[in-house]
Amino acid sequence: MDEQACFEAVAQRVPSLRHFRCDQLQDPTFMKAVLQDVIVPGMGRGDLRIENGRVAAFDPSRPTKEPRIVMPALVEAHCHLDKCHTLHRLADVGGDLSAALAAQAQDKSNWTEDDIRSRAARGLAELEAAGCGRVRSHVDWGNETAAPLNWTILNELATDQRERSVLSLAALTAITQMADPGFAGSVARAVAGHGGALGAFVLQHAGRTEGLDNMFTLADRYGLALDFHVDEGLAPGLDGLEAIADTALRHRFEGPVLCGHACALMNLGSADLARVADKLARAGVFVAALPTTNLYLQGRTGGTPDRRGLTRLRELAAAGVPIVVGSDNVADAFCPVGQHDPMAALHLAILAAHLDPPFDPWLDLVTTNAARALGQTPVTVIGAALTDLRISPARDIAELISGRAGPLLPIALPLEADQ
Ligand SMILES: [Zn+2]
Repeated sequence: MDEQACFEAVAQRVPSLRHFRCDQLQDPTFMKAVLQDVIVPGMGRGDLRIENGRVAAFDPSRPTKEPRIVMPALVEAHCHLDKCHTLHRLADVGGDLSAALAAQAQDKSNWTEDDIRSRAARGLAELEAAGCGRVRSHVDWGNETAAPLNWTILNELATDQRERSVLSLAALTAITQMADPGFAGSVARAVAGHGGALGAFVLQHAGRTEGLDNMFTLADRYGLALDFHVDEGLAPGLDGLEAIADTALRHRFEGPVLCGHACALMNLGSADLARVADKLARAGVFVAALPTTNLYLQGRTGGTPDRRGLTRLRELAAAGVPIVVGSDNVADAFCPVGQHDPMAALHLAILAAHLDPPFDPWLDLVTTNAARALGQTPVTVIGAALTDLRISPARDIAELISGRAGPLLPIALPLEADQ
């Protein structure tokens, strides 16, 4: 269902919305209105008073049979807009992570300016249609110190819609490259010039200690956020996540650090897990679960897997480690299925990691926690501009997360003031 059709479906169910149009959101400054009987995750059910295009108050109300959910726009904390939608030209994507890396390396010969721009724009449009207000895409940096073509094109895309600040980028390097101070410094300066984040792929590579030290030093110097792909595997002994936490603590780093994947935490016994979680919590490191890609690539043994690629979301959350969920790969060598929709990723994480009800707090993984992980101020409903909020006809949070009610929509208000 497209956005307008879905909105009309909401309006049919909710008489007070029948005269609203999505495009009226564009000029909210004159509005004074009440959104009646809404569910605000974490707050409960009531009326939202709107003044000058912002939520002024949340008042108790008489419940109706047709509540709607109002919540912050989703934040996509981890995707790859330079890789997405390449599946149609890949020969074989049924292998593990190394097979995916090899298939993707071959496909790079197709990465022309037009190819990258059209695929990335499609991915970004999908994210916005899913209700995203903010997106971070990783961008493969390659072997040169100068920014690669895919960075340049995605940066143009980010600049094109800068007014809305939707897209920001993270350079994806290899930690071995970042062990070279000259290489690391060049990438950090280029990233800083474009308001991006500094990132690297981290396993047990040579030069990991030096690479991490360089990255934290440069991030501190240029005020950069850090974003790692770390321990993306289930092999015993992977300890990159703990190495990052140790480095963050040693540098007393205060900027945001986001660590994606961390599947190898599944190998740890309770004492080791508690030690790593304690370090992550003290360092304020965010951990992102990326269930689609990890479930697809990890635990391959030739049969039905009995070990699944996923990080320890429940234990990390219980230990005070801020956690997020992201969409990661879509229709590429790393995940032939998938979708650009953090709510769909959360749905999968709830099933795969047994994230139990009440579901309200888990929405933070794709809203407020995800924003903080990117170094951005999270949106909370009270005081928020309507443009930063989304609405759903879902009757409860489980229905919202399931996707049965359709995507989150922009909020539209009536032209008539003083409802
Ligand atoms: Zn990724």
